[in-house]
Amino acid sequence: MIVAMQENATEEQIDAVIDVMLESGVNVHRTTGAMQTILAAVGPTAGLDLSKFEVLPGVLNVHRISAPYKLAGRAFRPHGTTIEFPNGAVIGGEQVAMIAGPCSIENHDQIFAIAASVKVAGGKFLRGGAFKPRSSPYAFQGLGIPGLKLMREAADVNGLATVSEVMEIAQIEAMLPYVDCFQVGARNMQNFNLLRELGQVRKPVLLKRGIAATIEELLLSSEYILSGGNYDVILCERGIRTYETATRNTMDISAIPVLKKLSHLPVVADPSHGTGRRDMVAPMAKAAVAAGADALLIEIHPNADKSVSDAAQTMYLEDFARLTAELRTIAQAVGRTL
Ligand code: PEP
Ligand code: MN
Repeated sequence: MIVAMQENATEEQIDAVIDVMLESGVNVHRTTGAMQTILAAVGPTAGLDLSKFEVLPGVLNVHRISAPYKLAGRAFRPHGTTIEFPNGAVIGGEQVAMIAGPCSIENHDQIFAIAASVKVAGGKFLRGGAFKPRSSPYAFQGLGIPGLKLMREAADVNGLATVSEVMEIAQIEAMLPYVDCFQVGARNMQNFNLLRELGQVRKPVLLKRGIAATIEELLLSSEYILSGGNYDVILCERGIRTYETATRNTMDISAIPVLKKLSHLPVVADPSHGTGRRDMVAPMAKAAVAAGADALLIEIHPNADKSVSDAAQTMYLEDFARLTAELRTIAQAVGRTL
């Protein structure tokens, strides 16, 4: 952390700032220039609240020079994290992974038809919601554990790994036999108790960006899981809320290269929730692969229009197969496979 003092700051003000810095547990290196004094904090700066220093008399501005997250930062693993799943699939390697499935697991025939088409398209991950965070308490809330059993069976028949959303700590243990990866939804990105508990689990976690979360907040949330010893975290860009209403959310494609630069963790893009519209999913999926995404998460359904949740953004199986084939060309152009 660097504290730049105002040109007219007095010695008393400078000393007062130094005292607050020392009380915060860091060492202070002072540079006295002809016009301005600069105070550099050295030591455990991650937990410092910058605004505490900004408001002190005589301070011009305060900057962070090292990130407040340590384990999620690129420097922790400069070559990047790759996560391997029991079915042999990898996220974070050269191959872009396809994660697809229904917004909600609805019944046996639906999830088996979807699993078969994920396999045929070359995907390795089946994703379906069994515990659904719905904006309305009257909307379908998911099939729960019986739904997860169906998804596990459908995945095993097709050699797929499973991904499903966990909404609360009490669900973790019951879900463990059925899921290969826990999804934390946008609404729970800052459910810190849940994140800490997932830090104790030894299964990967797909962490979605909150609807109004900054990239730094997403990385700090991942730090909660990593600091528990679970290093298998996948970051997910799923669109953020802006003033734009033409799409359900605004898919922040630039978050992909930003996250890849700041962090070693794999990045998955979710153009389904990112746009909310089936006709926009394919172009944004292509953009995400071109921008360096390690995986895509796409909602698909044999009868997409009749999906019990998120119908408008859900793709038909044939369109998903075509998209996957088209994405191979994009992947190849950016030095990846798919
Ligand atoms: C979902 O993945 O179906 C979902 C509810 O997503 P999000 O948490 O991104 O809204
Ligand atoms: Mn959904």
